[in-house]
Amino acid sequence: MKLVITNATLDARPTSIAVDGHMITAIGDHVPTNTADAVVDAAGAAVVPGLHDHHLHLFAMAAALGSVQCGPSAVHSIDDLARALRDAPGDGEIRGVGYHESVAGPLDRDVLDRLVRDRPVRVQHRSGGLWVLNSKAIAERHLDASDGRVFRGDEVVRSVDADLPDLAEVGQQLLSYGVTGVTDATPDLEFAAMQHLAAAVASGVLPQSVTALGAPDDWTDPEVAQGPRKLLLHDHDLPTYDELAERVHEARTATRAVAVHCVTRESLMLTLAVLEDVGAVTGDRIEHGAVVPRDVYRTMRSLGVAVVTQPCFIRERGDDYLTDVDPHDLECLYPYRSLLDAGVPVAASSDAPYGDVDPWSAIAAAGQRRTPSGATIGRSEAVDAATALAGYLSPAADPGGPPRRLRVGPHSGLCVLTPPPVRAAVVVSRSGQLVSPRG
Ligand SMILES: [Zn+2]
Repeated sequence: MKLVITNATLDARPTSIAVDGHMITAIGDHVPTNTADAVVDAAGAAVVPGLHDHHLHLFAMAAALGSVQCGPSAVHSIDDLARALRDAPGDGEIRGVGYHESVAGPLDRDVLDRLVRDRPVRVQHRSGGLWVLNSKAIAERHLDASDGRVFRGDEVVRSVDADLPDLAEVGQQLLSYGVTGVTDATPDLEFAAMQHLAAAVASGVLPQSVTALGAPDDWTDPEVAQGPRKLLLHDHDLPTYDELAERVHEARTATRAVAVHCVTRESLMLTLAVLEDVGAVTGDRIEHGAVVPRDVYRTMRSLGVAVVTQPCFIRERGDDYLTDVDPHDLECLYPYRSLLDAGVPVAASSDAPYGDVDPWSAIAAAGQRRTPSGATIGRSEAVDAATALAGYLSPAADPGGPPRRLRVGPHSGLCVLTPPPVRAAVVVSRSGQLVSPRG
């Protein structure tokens, strides 16, 4: 399909852009429209490359689409939770996601058994790190989990529905927001999962370019880029210094950077200490950076590590942070502006399905830093929409680096923006198809 976007603003100048499939064929004042299959009048709006979400989980997103929402935005009490689970369609296992203690306190097998006894139920904590199963779900897996709680046990828990999910709906959902590239941050993806991803990209089922932090070291299929190696630190059971240093060494041996999950002060300190000793390489990154004290900014800058943050967490979970997070940590919770000012690259991302997938909502949240009840956390850490958007425009391999630009040649999708509050008014896919965006 040949497409021309007229009256576009590109790098602050008016212009037209011609797109033919995977290529931008012309940019300029005199782009003819008579041979185009479609003409889009941007009415003076800015046009930017397709967005790259630097941290999400594709398989978990696909699974979440068929799941019962158990988080505070959907259910508010134990009765709500019971109703939501009992109303789940079908007669197989009920999969709940997004649970947080603010709904109905800590969950265990007994609590779930009281809610649903006749069907297997498993509910995932919104941190992604804990599954709680009822007796029937435990029995089906022959699990030895007396209280029904399985920490970081995705493989154990998943065994009943081992099929890899269809990624088409996830791909279309992302595309409708103008997201044409993603970095999957799931650690240790198996070869079969990688092949499933590569096939989905090759066939167009998944219209995004994909980088996988959990790709095996010997992964070579160019359909999915390997990316830095994801290192998941268990916050309540941190590795020793030597153990983490060994894991970083292993990544270096495989000529890979590392992407280290750091949501506590301790995990960040440990990671930075190891990187200082082992030596940082281009591409090293901190996932989340939930607690970043100012006295390490200088170290981060000299190491050259980027922070991949999630602005939506304050909007979705901020009230819980205000009650649960140590006040000492609250002062340096999910910093953004101050990191940029200190010369540390930062890129926003969704962490979907654990956070809202909508990048425009994340961009707005980054400028507000408001909790669900309207309180503010770290007002001075707010960044404007252009700054947060720039993070989504930074390349997959350089989160927070210089934004990609639209040029004649191969493109990675385009978005025509709305006037503020900024969203995608029109999306062009990587293959040059017009996509109707989500409102
Ligand atoms: Zn994640």
